[in-house]
Amino acid sequence: MNEKRMDAAGKPLPEITDATRPFWTAAKNRKLVVQKCGRCGTLNFLPKPWCIDCGGRQLDWVEVSGRGTIYSFTTASKVMMNFPGWKADLPVTLGIIDLDEGARMYGQVIGIKPEAIRIGLKVAVTFEDISPEAGIPKFVPA
Ligand SMILES: [Zn+2]
Repeated sequence: MNEKRMDAAGKPLPEITDATRPFWTAAKNRKLVVQKCGRCGTLNFLPKPWCIDCGGRQLDWVEVSGRGTIYSFTTASKVMMNFPGWKADLPVTLGIIDLDEGARMYGQVIGIKPEAIRIGLKVAVTFEDISPEAGIPKFVPA
């Protein structure tokens, strides 16, 4: 069985591939990057080998502001998927964020009580380290 790698707290670590490494490395360096299509300018998230809009294959990593608006969110109050490392963080809110530059991204929303989170809330990115080589973007109220 392919065991998931865990961090010290018992949370699963992302599987980092050549296609996604620039994202995790940038987050480690406190930058939020997404792929930008060299043909039509569309910003892609998640990272893909082709543009989600025109299919173009010339994709460059560009830094974005990390500012955005909550499009939707859900809050978990119980540990999911047998990852007890999350227990200390409960409740955990996962937001879908419309970045000001145009891409739609998801990330944990922190620094606000879940009952105060609203669709349309303005947020800004913040970063946490998850391993020696990777950081993860999270979002706080702007
Ligand atoms: Zn394109």
